[in-house]
Amino acid sequence: FGHKSPCRNKIQPPVVSIGLFYRERYGYLSALNDFSRETRSLANLPDLETRLVEMVKGALHSTNVCLLSKTSADTDFSLIASVGLSDPPRYLSLAQTCPLIRCMSNNFAILSPDRFEIDPILQNMSSIHRRKLAILDAALFVPIIASRGELSGLMSIGANLRNRPYTVEDRQLVSNLAGQIGMALENARLYRDAFRSRENLEMWLNSMPDCVMIVDREKTVRFTNIACKQQLGIEVGSRSFIEGEREDESPFGESNANRYRKLIDGKEYEIARAPLTNPGGSQSVVYVMRDISERIKAAEDRKKWEEQTRMNSHLASIGEMASGIAHEINNPLTAVLGYAELLNEERIPPEIKENVTMIQEGARRVADIVQRLLVFARQREPQRQPVDLNQIIATTLQLRKYELRTSNIEIVTDLDNQLPYTVADGGQIQQVLLNLIINAEIAIKSSQNTGKVLITSEYGRGIIRISVKDDGPGIPTEIKQRIFDPFFTTRETGQGTGLGLSICHGIVSEHGGTIYVADSDYGGAEFVLELPITEDEGPAQVEVFEDNPLRSRKRAKILVVDDEEAVRSLFETILEPEGHSVDTSSNGADALRRIHERDYDLILLDIKMPGMNGFEFYKRVEALNGNLQKSIIIVTGDVMDPITKTLIEQSGAAYVTKPFRTDHVRRRIRAILDS
Ligand code: ADP
Repeated sequence: FGHKSPCRNKIQPPVVSIGLFYRERYGYLSALNDFSRETRSLANLPDLETRLVEMVKGALHSTNVCLLSKTSADTDFSLIASVGLSDPPRYLSLAQTCPLIRCMSNNFAILSPDRFEIDPILQNMSSIHRRKLAILDAALFVPIIASRGELSGLMSIGANLRNRPYTVEDRQLVSNLAGQIGMALENARLYRDAFRSRENLEMWLNSMPDCVMIVDREKTVRFTNIACKQQLGIEVGSRSFIEGEREDESPFGESNANRYRKLIDGKEYEIARAPLTNPGGSQSVVYVMRDISERIKAAEDRKKWEEQTRMNSHLASIGEMASGIAHEINNPLTAVLGYAELLNEERIPPEIKENVTMIQEGARRVADIVQRLLVFARQREPQRQPVDLNQIIATTLQLRKYELRTSNIEIVTDLDNQLPYTVADGGQIQQVLLNLIINAEIAIKSSQNTGKVLITSEYGRGIIRISVKDDGPGIPTEIKQRIFDPFFTTRETGQGTGLGLSICHGIVSEHGGTIYVADSDYGGAEFVLELPITEDEGPAQVEVFEDNPLRSRKRAKILVVDDEEAVRSLFETILEPEGHSVDTSSNGADALRRIHERDYDLILLDIKMPGMNGFEFYKRVEALNGNLQKSIIIVTGDVMDPITKTLIEQSGAAYVTKPFRTDHVRRRIRAILDS
């Protein structure tokens, strides 16, 4: 590839041919030498063809010279160059069947036209062939023989300018010249063909999107295709960037191609390299380099997406189970908590009060876990408003400032101050960040005395990405799949509930985002939080209780509709001592019958009941008695259950959540009775 194109060689003026004119003085030998030197210096085929006929004409002092040649193995003999013809034809060719060609192919002899009437083969020449040959106005026809020993062309030589016949010496000279012409033409054609294949090869290599480079033993670049120049900026003649390659990695002497990957200018390249033995025996190496960064990124994105999808569906099914369990626990827990509270309001001996308080506290902790399970199971909808996540990071860090300092943990932040606002539940996001920071603290403290936590924020492609990474012990690969599972913890009993990350996952999913563990370059664990950048306002906020601790002074007729016996009797126990008249009903149908029989002031209505559920009952009451419907308080363990949520949102009905505090129920009842 290093050679120069013959086309680009400047054609020298015909100095040598002058020597040919002096052949008489120097003899045929020097004329032949000059001829052969000049033919060797001309590699460009059309130039060579023209020069050949000119030189022969000069050497023989002839009126004209024409050169006919086969352009490939089985074509006709076409006129490729002529000099001296008064009216040169644009196109002339002799078929292989032409008697002159046949005759020359047989004996390779120089012929003169007078042989046409003597030679038996030539005698039969058709008038067409005779007319064609007459155009050439020849005194001699000279065969040109190829190296394979076959006729590759012929030369026609016009009459001698000195008006004398050609001598035996002339014929000898022209025969020698023909031999050289044959070789020169053949070489030039080979050169042309080689050049064309080289051009084709270069064209193919340049059309490749992969980078191709050939490097010699001295590690100097000998060839680069366009992609290589453009992508890697490698020029011919420069030192190979593979310079850093160790000697034992050097491909010289290897017989096979090998493949490896290398980071070049921050991009991952797949490199195939193979040894190349040049025609002279020297060795080079050909490198084919493909930028696979995009491919790797796409594969990684896909893997992450698959992992996320798997995790989401796994956690969704656990979430379903968790919310089922939470509901089951809620009813008995309501009774435990409610009765414990009632008991505590009584005048009881201090030691019993202490025990009851312990029951109450234990039950509250269970209630707290149930609430967290419901958060994980996405039962609490985020309260959305535009938030500045950098601000949330800052306040969260403020909350942990003291603990972090006393634990010798340094916090490093790298926050993008252009971060856009996004609509999110700031409190919940803070909960997520707090959880991640506390986890990092615990991890660092478990293995070292000091540590660092790096928090970064950035955005792009419609998402905000927050990363929290620590230089603690990291997360062992075998548990990475499980850390988001509820109750999965590696901490000692009593130190971790294993709910932290599952709640984070629930919150982030509810925000339409993702949370995952990344491969950290910081030594420990890295959690990445990705939230979509949104601007919509989201649903209206759920109603909250106003703080009104007073009991109602009105005496009311109250109907409690709940399938759970313990809850029904708890309401009786709370409400009857306050002077209310309480009836209970375990299902919707029975409750409907009762409201026909008695005028109730208020109904406490459970939603999840077998048979007619609370929602249907509510609708039936609406049809019967609109005022009564306004006096219904919904009692639910699950505000975000789709049915309950719709009911509360559509009707604006009051509600209390199980397990409830007795004073919450009292406040609610009072609000309705007093309105
Ligand atoms: P808990 O903190 O109660 O164990 P989490 O759900 O928050 O529950 O965490 C689950 C588990 O994930 C932890 O027990 C711990 O093994 C692992 N983990 C979480 N954060 C980190 C961290 N920064 N470094 C190492 N391990 C962690």
